[in-house]
Amino acid sequence: MSSTATDQLEVMTGTLPISLHLKCKNAEELIRFYSKVEENPIKQDLQAWMTDRAKTNKCMYKHLISHFNEVKGKTELEHVETDFKCSKEGGLALCRKVSYIKNEEENQNKKDQQVENITEIISKLTDREISMFTDGSTLGNPGPTGTGACIYFKGTNSDPVQLKCPVSPNSNNYVGELNGIRLALSFLEEKNIQQKSIHLFVDCQPAIKTIFSNTIPALTIETRQILQNLENKNNKIQIQWTPGHKNIEGNEIADKLAKEAASEMIGKQVEENSRKVDKKELTKDLRLNAGQKWQRRYENTEGNERFMEIFPTVQPRKLYKSERRLECIINQKITGHSHLNSHMSKILHDVQEICPNCDKVETTRHFIFECPAYATQRNKLEREAEEASNRHSEPVADINLKVLIGNSPYQLFHVEGRREFGTEIQKLFQQFIKDTRRFK
Ligand SMILES: [Zn+2]
Repeated sequence: MSSTATDQLEVMTGTLPISLHLKCKNAEELIRFYSKVEENPIKQDLQAWMTDRAKTNKCMYKHLISHFNEVKGKTELEHVETDFKCSKEGGLALCRKVSYIKNEEENQNKKDQQVENITEIISKLTDREISMFTDGSTLGNPGPTGTGACIYFKGTNSDPVQLKCPVSPNSNNYVGELNGIRLALSFLEEKNIQQKSIHLFVDCQPAIKTIFSNTIPALTIETRQILQNLENKNNKIQIQWTPGHKNIEGNEIADKLAKEAASEMIGKQVEENSRKVDKKELTKDLRLNAGQKWQRRYENTEGNERFMEIFPTVQPRKLYKSERRLECIINQKITGHSHLNSHMSKILHDVQEICPNCDKVETTRHFIFECPAYATQRNKLEREAEEASNRHSEPVADINLKVLIGNSPYQLFHVEGRREFGTEIQKLFQQFIKDTRRFK
């Protein structure tokens, strides 16, 4: 309703307050400028301003930086990774070289099918072909990271070359995977492999895509160069996605090696200053910080106390996917700004705050939990809600507003496996609203 407080509506719909949203947007813009390559005129202009802020009066940058500082976490602007510089020389073209990747699209979600494919490919390999399996491993993710590679030079029945390499004291699986691919390819380059057919089996689809995508982080530039060098020596390289933990021998060996390498990194220190962050990672960080700011603001705003009993935390929420009219009624109940007489009496002179069925004040609580006029419907609601909670093994101590329409079912939408219970409770409450016929 028009009188409902904006911050309560924001919490209910999971909409980041506009002022925080603006700060995030400005901070993202600054990150975008900063991640440009050194030759970029905007980057040069920004850096000139940053080195001598007094000399050039650029109020736009001042504005962006102040907003960035408000929503940034631990990460400084200096840590943002510079975009990949495309060069036409050396064959590092903009386009993705999809020809490397076999069966990419059709096998995306078909693990078992792909295991069969891989097994077949492996069985058909000749002794003249090279097959390599790579893997990355993180203990904790993020945590100590290592990588491993298992290379068969004479068919998969021969003894493989086993490589492992510690990557970082604190990184993630994905970085481990990227390093694995580089480890294996650079080994071939060192061995001066020529005119061979090379099969690379990787169990991480994002890593495969990154190696061949057009916006690639600094980490993969070297790998691409190695690939190019190998191709120049008339090698034919194919990359296959290999589902992990499916008893494919090479993959299992690479996995074991990666884990060993990762454990070598336990207890090593991370050099904070040398840590570069991808701009996407940083943007995610900004949103997270903005969310925390929002939570604090929500907690410190007067008048939210009652509302906070139902919604203790702010978070993006999915709305009910049901009738709009019902949704309105339910949301009005949460805020207390509804067509019940306790609120209507504040707006209209000729309405009393008393319930039309008894002599109590008609509040949300009275309507749902107390008014004797709806005892039958209420009993039905409580009985069925209890049954639902038993059926889903979700202990509900008390059927209150929080359970029926508040944080709990909304939250349940987001917790895997608890979604059904949340949906069921919501449906029961909607039925209650319909049954009571108070809003016809
Ligand atoms: Zn009543």
